[in-house]
Amino acid sequence: MATLDYLSYCSSQEWEDLLRFSEQQETPFLVIFTDKVRQKFEHFRSGFPAARIYYAVKANPGTPLLALLRDLGSYFDVASIHELDQLIELGVSPERVSFGNTIKKIRHIHEAYEKGVRLFATDSEADIRNLAQAAPGSRVFFRLLMDAVTSDSDWPLSKKFGCQPGTLTDLVALSAELDLDPYGISFHVGSQQRDIQAWDAAIAKVSGLMALLAKAQIPLRAINLGGGFPADYLVKSNSLSVYAEEINHYLQNYFGSAIPEICLEPGRGLVGESGVLVSEVVLIARKAKTDRKRWVYTDTGVFNGLMETLGESIKYPIYTNRAGATEATILAGPTCDSIDIMYQEYDYPLPSSLAIGDRLYWLATGAYTASYSAVEFNGFPPLRTYYL
Ligand SMILES: *Cc1c(COP(=O)(O)O)cnc(C)c1O
Repeated sequence: MATLDYLSYCSSQEWEDLLRFSEQQETPFLVIFTDKVRQKFEHFRSGFPAARIYYAVKANPGTPLLALLRDLGSYFDVASIHELDQLIELGVSPERVSFGNTIKKIRHIHEAYEKGVRLFATDSEADIRNLAQAAPGSRVFFRLLMDAVTSDSDWPLSKKFGCQPGTLTDLVALSAELDLDPYGISFHVGSQQRDIQAWDAAIAKVSGLMALLAKAQIPLRAINLGGGFPADYLVKSNSLSVYAEEINHYLQNYFGSAIPEICLEPGRGLVGESGVLVSEVVLIARKAKTDRKRWVYTDTGVFNGLMETLGESIKYPIYTNRAGATEATILAGPTCDSIDIMYQEYDYPLPSSLAIGDRLYWLATGAYTASYSAVEFNGFPPLRTYYL
């Protein structure tokens, strides 16, 4: 396998800017190309012209990114009262915010409501009763369980979120009784979903449920297609325009000319490709003379931004300055914890000439990296982020 071509992940201008900026910086750190996020947002907007785009803040809550998306007219999906506070501080109107986490304290529901949030997601009776009490009259998305389709995604959300169709229709009826505003059905097909047909199956289910509810005199008005849009990692995905074309086609198939209001909640798909995590090789070792694979330890790892390599789920493209033949490498982080290994089963190919002190550029690390980094595990500080 040849060495990685970084130009298939960013422009030569971005690469030059990155090198110029990072020369004097001590590793590890994350650099975000903000223009890339701007471009991606425009792609989402042109691919889904009728949709409202709620950026899933948890993917990368960096203030400059939130400010950029605020100015571009984005809506926001928050996972906690703290993310809401961050947005309000930035002058984002609470009308542009959805409280998308189905797991929340009644105290925080009330606080969000007091601050002006009127859109919430739910998947349980207890949460609906809390919403009715603490956020009366609010619009509610009911989240459908998607275990069958999420299993194909690279970072599945399993059964933690959503409820089965029969329970969902019961919850819709209950929320109407409690004077909430049953607004729509939401789902998430699993993060980094490379199989577009997952949306086909999900939209089919939702349209059936909406028809059923309309017959029962509880018409819903919206469908939330979730996140799940992929970033290009070592394995590339279909482009966003292909996703948009297919998904719009499914919507038309199931809803004809009566397509409901559409919401999207991209996290990874919007910011994933905007980041480069720069690290340094600390040590290279072989455990025995006959070992087929060498260990390469870097100054960043599972606890410093590369959490999503757990289970070797997300395979980041890594660039080094070294050329020539590559060999299979075990990549591990700097902490005294044995789970701090990024790739061991997977034979990650890196140049044989790689040496201690070389820099490794982890591409497409804009999502779920800095915010996933530990506060001071082993004394290492949280991952620093710079915005270019
Ligand atoms: C995490 C999350 C998202 C974003 O998912 P991505 O796969 O990163 O796009 C969207 N919606 C909800 C409710 C989430 O929890």
